[in-house]
Amino acid sequence: MRRRIGQHSARFEMAFSEAAQMPRTSKQSEPKPAPKLDKVRAMKTSPRGKSARRCGLCGRSEHLTRTPCCRQLVCDDSEQYVVFSQARNSCYHNHSRYTLCAYHHNEGHAGTWETCSQCRTDFVTELYVWYGTNKYNVKKLKTIPLYQPTTCAECGSRIRLGEDAYTLEPSGRYLCSSCAS
Ligand SMILES: [Zn+2]
Ligand SMILES: [Zn+2]
Ligand SMILES: [Zn+2]
Ligand SMILES: [Zn+2]
Repeated sequence: MRRRIGQHSARFEMAFSEAAQMPRTSKQSEPKPAPKLDKVRAMKTSPRGKSARRCGLCGRSEHLTRTPCCRQLVCDDSEQYVVFSQARNSCYHNHSRYTLCAYHHNEGHAGTWETCSQCRTDFVTELYVWYGTNKYNVKKLKTIPLYQPTTCAECGSRIRLGEDAYTLEPSGRYLCSSCAS
């Protein structure tokens, strides 16, 4: 028994010392590897060596641009997805189309969108809240007004104005997609 243990430990010792000898040429180099490792890690997370620039909405780091309304760094893949131009795949386009921030900027309103009375009255309250709080907003509306959820005038089912397809009749009646078809 003693012998076998000795053999095992001798083999392990050899393997260990062989591996250990490669990087460990002298005792003086021991404190240095730590900062080197950190450098390698930093380069892996940002290949171009720049500080991590990321989309403020989805976190991606490619095809970044800045929104004209709030100068937020966001991704813009619109050129790659022309075929699916209706798809909400570019944070730049989503922010530009579906937020009060962009609407307020495009309409040339004064002040900030969060407190803008024109923005407040330009939309029905449910849409105003959606435009101000959906996932395409970097900063979301803090003061959220109460509203009656919109329902279909025919079947009574809930219509989420920001997300669902619906028909608004000239009379002001909302119809869900199945009742309208
Ligand atoms: Zn993005
Ligand atoms: Zn904006
Ligand atoms: Zn406004
Ligand atoms: Zn309906």
